[in-house]
Amino acid sequence: MTYDGIILGAGHNSLVLQAYLGRAGLKVLCLDRRHVAGGGLATEEDPRHPGFLHNTHSFYHRALTHAPWYRDLKLEEKGAVYLEPDLNVALILRSGDTLEWWTDFEKTAASFGNFSVKDEAALRRWRNDFLPIVESILVPESRRPPLPPERRRQLLEKSAEGRLLLEVSALSPLEFVLREFENPVIQAGLLFFNGLREVDLRCRGFGHHIAALLASPGKAQMCIGGSAALARALVSAVHESGGEIRLQTTPHRILVNAGKATGVETSDGTRYQARHFVASGLNPQQTFLELIDADLLPQQWRDKARTFRYNLLAPLFALHLNLHERPRYSAALKNAEIENAFMVILGLEHFEQFPEIVRCHQEGKIPPTVMWGSCPTHFDSSQAPAGKHTAFMWEKLPYRLNGNPLQWDAYKQEHGRAMLERWSQYAPGLKDSVIDSFVRSPLDTERTLPNMQGGDLLVGAFTDGQVGYNRPFEGAGHYRGHLSGLYLCGASCHPGGNVTGLAGYNCAQVILNDLGVGAEWAPPAAEGVISQL
Ligand SMILES: Cc1cc2nc3c(=O)[nH]c(=O)nc-3n(C[C@H](O)[C@H](O)[C@H](O)COP(=O)(O)OP(=O)(O)OC[C@H]3O[C@@H](n4cnc5c(N)ncnc54)[C@H](O)[C@@H]3O)c2cc1C
Repeated sequence: MTYDGIILGAGHNSLVLQAYLGRAGLKVLCLDRRHVAGGGLATEEDPRHPGFLHNTHSFYHRALTHAPWYRDLKLEEKGAVYLEPDLNVALILRSGDTLEWWTDFEKTAASFGNFSVKDEAALRRWRNDFLPIVESILVPESRRPPLPPERRRQLLEKSAEGRLLLEVSALSPLEFVLREFENPVIQAGLLFFNGLREVDLRCRGFGHHIAALLASPGKAQMCIGGSAALARALVSAVHESGGEIRLQTTPHRILVNAGKATGVETSDGTRYQARHFVASGLNPQQTFLELIDADLLPQQWRDKARTFRYNLLAPLFALHLNLHERPRYSAALKNAEIENAFMVILGLEHFEQFPEIVRCHQEGKIPPTVMWGSCPTHFDSSQAPAGKHTAFMWEKLPYRLNGNPLQWDAYKQEHGRAMLERWSQYAPGLKDSVIDSFVRSPLDTERTLPNMQGGDLLVGAFTDGQVGYNRPFEGAGHYRGHLSGLYLCGASCHPGGNVTGLAGYNCAQVILNDLGVGAEWAPPAAEGVISQL
């Protein structure tokens, strides 16, 4: 069987890539070991309780409807319809006070002002200063193959916006927050958001992340019917473009002939030939160390793939509930709007908790509980039987529990019970409302999606220089592997993990360019955009 190209893994990045290539007239096959396409776009029906749907991987899709591929592939028409609740995030304190992020910036500023007038002013200042940086530099950069770091710096130094970005980037998120904000709750809230992106808060080079988040108009959104509705829409876009997806098919080896990737052999011995390319949506270890014969991989690439780093702080533990009633937070007695909060953060009171959380992750211990989650059915009743609800909470917990990830199998139920206890302290009556529940550990994440090694949902740290042009590592940051016709398209590439689809979108630009196929949808190169500032 011969195709123009073969893609490994049917995560959303791969599907975005496949749809664009199909639309360009290429015949492309995608292979995935699971029984369903979409990777982290997973919505599972509770087998014991039909009608209760749970988003077992991603749920919050930031600014998804602003993504260029969402528009180009007409995904709304294909059933991926999004909601963006107004009270987007609420940090609920033990006192019942709340720090709030609204889609309406003025309401967010007012909430900051309740804690500190000075911090409200800092929020306004940084939002105004960073708005043009987000719109003219950071968003365009995320949607294109990245520039080499030196060239990027040269170009940025030519404009006031670029210089401010470089200056703030030189800080760590922690340094930025402590320098610019005074209130411990606000400091904690901002660092939490930084942590959601899994950026190590001590790491220099990422000071701009929080300012960018403050300025970013895109907020958390959810897909009606569950995250899998986006996967189904992408699959439909792939099929519409003539693409083929084979599930429950595990690649065993990338076939190579005369220095060119020419196909894939699967674990049952079937060989699929590729005229032009093989693109991997898997992680660098899977791609280079497991799927390419050792004698076809230069030592330098082997070393770089082997030392590719995963995030210490990314693994999540999840508690999923089927409920008679939705969680009712006692904080709503003080502020009724909390009833409609989309993402709720519990257990976070001050920023000094973060060093303790990091220490626990390093030592494989359970940290003090900080958790966040939602009641999806409050916004979308289709995710549970009539009148019933689902809710979930996530907590960042170490993959190597007490030094051994297998410990999770024995401990996870107990931890789920502890989380429910803690959650009920903020939402009295929650325990009595539970119909059933289940948990997922960081080890479960890796078992379901092995590309998320160590439970790292971003499929690779942003530390150790693994960003931009050097993601996944130096020499592979252009979506190209060491062989002609070999490409990378997953979250291990720029701009990284989460549901952005941009690794697939950018890889499509590179492959079509290499094949000399025109792509009218492709944006102008990063070089031109940044030089125009
Ligand atoms: C618990 C949890 C919660 C999350 N919440 C959010 C969130 O709210 N918002 C957000 O934006 N992101 C979230 N994420 C992260 C997000 O899911 C990932 O970053 C994103 O899915 C990565 O997309 P991808 O297309 O690169 O790969 P993936 O979605 O990981 O897909 C990879 C695909 O490759 C397949 N695969 C793996 N190994 C092999 C193999 N050997 N052979 C064949 N196929 C293989 C897998 O089956 C999968 O289909 C969450 C992740 C987890 C685990």
